[in-house]
Amino acid sequence: MDPVYEISGQIRQLAAGKDLSDPALAAIVSSSGQDGALACEADAARRRMYGTDVYLRGLIEISSYCRNNCYYCGLRAGNAKCLRYRLSEDEILECCDEGYNLGFRTFVLQGGEDPCQTDVFVCSVVSSIKKKYPDCAVTLSLGEKEYSSYKAFYESGADRYLLRHETADEAHYRKLHPDSMSLGRRKECLFSLKEIGYQVGSGFMVGSPYQTADNIVSDLRFLQKLSPDMIGIGPFIPHHATPFSNFNSGSAQQTVRLVSVLRLMFPYALIPATTSLATIGEKYREKALLSGANVIMPNLTPLKVRKKYELYNRKLVSSLESAQAVSELEKMLERIGYRAVSSRGDVKRG
Ligand code: SF4
Repeated sequence: MDPVYEISGQIRQLAAGKDLSDPALAAIVSSSGQDGALACEADAARRRMYGTDVYLRGLIEISSYCRNNCYYCGLRAGNAKCLRYRLSEDEILECCDEGYNLGFRTFVLQGGEDPCQTDVFVCSVVSSIKKKYPDCAVTLSLGEKEYSSYKAFYESGADRYLLRHETADEAHYRKLHPDSMSLGRRKECLFSLKEIGYQVGSGFMVGSPYQTADNIVSDLRFLQKLSPDMIGIGPFIPHHATPFSNFNSGSAQQTVRLVSVLRLMFPYALIPATTSLATIGEKYREKALLSGANVIMPNLTPLKVRKKYELYNRKLVSSLESAQAVSELEKMLERIGYRAVSSRGDVKRG
């Protein structure tokens, strides 16, 4: 059968909620021939679940310290040139004040695995935010923690937790991480978070070093097992002070294609148009939204430290990425047929 014709039939099957074989998924992931049809089906699926709503999350990068050494990340402990900072509780609350006034009703507290940000500190910050803004959701993205820590954060009021698995394939995981880290542990954390009651987010890099189409299929299969509420993917972008400094960036086009595949496989999911996509080109943020994404996370981190949170080269920190430019973002969304929504934006299952 003509491969293009075959892939278009498979896209229709995906859109009808049917699962595909591993080779069929690998073919869709690797081929650009049907990107238009895929985006069209994905946009129809997102409109059925979420209409034209786009949820805005205020991102606060609370610490650039990290005890880990992921080979792809500019915040890795081994990067002696990284400028480190950590925000105090008061500084985080000031970001929330500003975000609330700008209309944000979800705050995402993200940071490296910083041993100095204790459970007591995180619980105190979460409960202060919830006390001041009970109509807002708090999302944490602070890496791997003990079960008891996750539980304490949840009991303090945290609603959601983001922890990207980055790659679900053991051999590939070993090429991206030092021996001190473990894929099994990462997966265990994700299932613990679900068990505790969080809305859970996971996801992976597209085009990371050594990644194959089969690796991406493993990522999709892992997500089917986890059934996360939020799925974030972004192209790999090298950072100059990491072991992967000389690798090429992942493809933005393939990332957008995968946003569509995710929307069709997980119609209920909250899927962001990520900063890394916009860093490769502003048009890819729009393309992701037109291809199934329904979340944007503008940055509320204080301007004086924002540039220090450098996960990869030339990470976008201004323009539409900045929470202060929310009215520009609203105009952009309107221009392409969507609307920014000022609400918590919880997941809609079924
Ligand atoms: S990816 Fe996360 S855990 Fe790994 S070094 Fe960067 S901040 Fe730390």
